[in-house]
Amino acid sequence: MGAIAYFEEIVTTDKRIQELKESSQTVVGIFCNFVPEEVIYGLSAIPVRLCSGDIELARVGEEVFPRDVCSLVKASVGMAVSNNPLFELVDLVVIPTPCDAKKKLCSILSSYKQVHVLQLPPSKHEIEAQLFWIEQVWKLKSELERLTGKKLSKNGLKDAILLLNSRNQAFMRLLEIRKLIPPVISGKEALMVTIASFYDDVERWIKMVHLLCEELEAKYNHNQFICDNSAPRVLIIGAPLIYPNLKLMDIVESNRAIVVIDDLCSGTQRLYQPVIVKEWSMKEMIRAIAERTLLPSMCPCFVENYDRINRVHQLVEEFQIDGVIYHNLRICPLFDIESALIYNELKRRNIPCLVLSTDYTYEDTQQIRNRVEAFFEMILSRIAGSKRSGYTIQKLK
Ligand code: SF4
Ligand code: SF4
Repeated sequence: MGAIAYFEEIVTTDKRIQELKESSQTVVGIFCNFVPEEVIYGLSAIPVRLCSGDIELARVGEEVFPRDVCSLVKASVGMAVSNNPLFELVDLVVIPTPCDAKKKLCSILSSYKQVHVLQLPPSKHEIEAQLFWIEQVWKLKSELERLTGKKLSKNGLKDAILLLNSRNQAFMRLLEIRKLIPPVISGKEALMVTIASFYDDVERWIKMVHLLCEELEAKYNHNQFICDNSAPRVLIIGAPLIYPNLKLMDIVESNRAIVVIDDLCSGTQRLYQPVIVKEWSMKEMIRAIAERTLLPSMCPCFVENYDRINRVHQLVEEFQIDGVIYHNLRICPLFDIESALIYNELKRRNIPCLVLSTDYTYEDTQQIRNRVEAFFEMILSRIAGSKRSGYTIQKLK
């Protein structure tokens, strides 16, 4: 079995649920990327990210949550209501508070499971906000110690940081390969890799990512590209795409284009940043973990916008992007407001951008397909005749 088939198996089957059922370890359900997984691993517990892209779960969620809430949160409620096997396994749910919907999710889910609320500051860069967030990480540590009946040791936390930093290194190796021209991996395949990291055994995941990188390097050396040099190179940003809701990715990649990079919290953002520790004291490790979970986040829940725009620009340059697609999850005011800001800024910088508002349903598939096709027509006319400066395997070394 190739490495991609392995990641698909983790995402699309109940293989991992069976493994977790047989394990005696404490399982902690988490939402978003704000939850510091290092603290969970440091106490020999296992984090599983519960965010779901399942339309059926979102419909079930409507039984107890208003219809006019984003599909992501409704699907999370649906997990609880329908006794979803992954949700059933968790001993505690940790929920950050990026928006009103997630705040209310805390109260709804507390009828089903023990919930710990991670209060998010409204800003990332204010010193008071950072101190507040560090305090939240200390509180989570105490809660997890109570849950597991263990005391977090310095060595336990250090080992967890090193383990997750090696996960980050494996992921960065894959990101470099995604810069290759022509490409050797599709955006959908790459997304399966990060989504598998939501719940997979972390050491096995790291090993399989390195295997995938070796397979992809061999493909490149044998000229086994997935498309030629002329295919539009796309960056997807905005609201997370989560299995099985890969509608947008499927539409884009069935249209002669390739998503060479994303900046989604379910994708690249999830594993982009290592924990940078100055010394191995408990206080410094907690500070560094808090920094990793707060500062690199591109979630629109924060007041600041400029770092998100700069990040998009950086990815456009690094990955030789021809066009940006902004995925706006319907009924989310945060993404909606931000999409206009990003669109206008990219327009000012002469970077083509298409904003698409959708949800987990399929009724708008044809309409989205038409808009994507028109966008690519425009992009193709811009890139016709322009020569790409190839990014080659030698540059990876
Ligand atoms: S975009 Fe923000 S709030 Fe939404 S799932 Fe991602 S991190 Fe959480
Ligand atoms: S998509 Fe918007 S409304 Fe939904 S959880 Fe994320 S920030 Fe909240």
